[in-house]
Amino acid sequence: MSDGKRVLVKLSGEALIAADGYWLNPQTLTTLAADLKSAVDAGFRIAVVIGGGNVIRGAKVGAAGWIDRATADSMGMLATVMNSIALESALEAAGASARTMSAVAMPSVCETFARQPALHHLAKGRVVVLGGGTGNPFFTTDTAAVLRAIELNCDAVLKATQVDGVYSADPKTHPEATRYDVLTHDQAIQQDLKVMDTAAFALARENRLPIIVGSAHGPGAVTAILTGAAPATRVTP
Ligand code: UDP
Repeated sequence: MSDGKRVLVKLSGEALIAADGYWLNPQTLTTLAADLKSAVDAGFRIAVVIGGGNVIRGAKVGAAGWIDRATADSMGMLATVMNSIALESALEAAGASARTMSAVAMPSVCETFARQPALHHLAKGRVVVLGGGTGNPFFTTDTAAVLRAIELNCDAVLKATQVDGVYSADPKTHPEATRYDVLTHDQAIQQDLKVMDTAAFALARENRLPIIVGSAHGPGAVTAILTGAAPATRVTP
């Protein structure tokens, strides 16, 4: 992918968990922030959606029965804002300019998401960290990532996972599994390859949005994927 491109990076909240189980590992954020700054320095415009799975997943808490799902999802959305402002701080500490914009209004904490100001931040070379998911319960941050990528005219979503792409089977349990370099949205559906959750993937397919799947683990990982220096799977129309 060439520079000047606009990419929405989707990170899972789980990647922020520390080795001792604490929900936030500052070192992971520092490494990630340096990586995203190098991507900006390489000429990419970067928006980020970070999940909240390191703190809470609404479906799991809702299933316990004593708290309704919509309330649990609100808690999940708040968790994504905590992660987002932590990442914004790490980005600023790394020397990048960053702004958090939340789908859930909390003006004393961060900006509220609106498309035009978000486009303006991107045009200025700021990393735009999008918190609060879609702002609605019963969705995930994968759907938020695809939705915002389309709204912000991004060229692709880079979905960061534990492994370096989409495999024919889970490589952890099937060592013989092979990695795809390219796939179409249709092939991913036909072969039941789980790239993202179903709602998110359907939205990406309908809007012909490419999804790049790769590992954001370790220093420089995101930049390496974007510049083609690291392997990844590209899902295209
Ligand atoms: N969430 C929501 N609406 C959204 C996005 C997220 O209600 O548009 C809630 C939902 O409860 C979800 C939680 O926020 O479980 C954390 O997001 P997600 O599970 O996508 O985080 P990740 O797995 O990427 O860390």
